[in-house]
Amino acid sequence: MIQPFHLLTIDVEDWPQSTLNHALPIGERVVANTHALLEILDEAGVRATFFVLGKVAEAHPTLTREIAAAGHEVGTHGYSHESVEAMPVAKFKEELHRSIEVLRQQIGQPVLGHRAADFSISSRSLYLLEYLAAEGLAYDSSLFPIRHPRYGVPSAWWTPHRVRCASGQTLVEFPMATVRFAEMVLPAAGGGYFRLFPYWWTHLALQRFARAGSPATCYIHPYELDVSEMHEIPYRVPRLLRWSQGTNRRSVRRKLQRLFSAFRFTTMATACEALGVEQLAVGLDLGRSPVAYAPQPARGKGRGKCLAPDV
Ligand SMILES: [Zn+2]
Repeated sequence: MIQPFHLLTIDVEDWPQSTLNHALPIGERVVANTHALLEILDEAGVRATFFVLGKVAEAHPTLTREIAAAGHEVGTHGYSHESVEAMPVAKFKEELHRSIEVLRQQIGQPVLGHRAADFSISSRSLYLLEYLAAEGLAYDSSLFPIRHPRYGVPSAWWTPHRVRCASGQTLVEFPMATVRFAEMVLPAAGGGYFRLFPYWWTHLALQRFARAGSPATCYIHPYELDVSEMHEIPYRVPRLLRWSQGTNRRSVRRKLQRLFSAFRFTTMATACEALGVEQLAVGLDLGRSPVAYAPQPARGKGRGKCLAPDV
């Protein structure tokens, strides 16, 4: 049986440490929140890719094993959740290697994929993708093809494609889902956008991707299910941050359930096999100067299929 599919990804991090202050210790809530999410996925029979932060994996070693044992894929979300383009390259390489090693040892399998903290690979730092391939990773999912004050690569292709590194290696890139509306490209299907926007926005985005013959990349954090976190954590949270990060968490469980009953999802490792990596067009060549994306071919050209075995 052949079914269209989309890609569900989970960034496993502890909200106070990842978002409020990177110096804070990893708390306990990430464990209960991840368990709650695993339960929802299990009920719906959905398999996802979990990008686990290295610090979380070190603080809670059994959590990564539980994720893998439940049939999900484990990728790396880096180590500290600091912006990767803001840190020295040597630190980026060291943190990347450390996070991959801890995850690999915990799950006993190779780690194939990476997502940068806060999508912190922008148009200015595309060269960082080179180091992912050098670490043996097969794919990345850090680029957001939008204009945004803190992140984004507006020229990036909006469907899965390949990046050719200067070394000759290639890496698959799964960009975050977006929706083109008139001349604007808007974010969809993830995190705060999933929480703050009505359900139909995500549904529309996934429908559009399916019609265009491409899987959409969705993302969510376990903490977005935690409705009491903002009231219970012992830290002072600025009012605007409290609003942007805490609002509508109560809606997330129901939205996910609706999404899972309307669409099929799979892991990125499965998608790499199903799409046929060699079939994907090269959108970015890091060996060229200046480093910049080629224009994306028109609909139907240079794009992967949205079809996969029933997974
Ligand atoms: Zn994150």
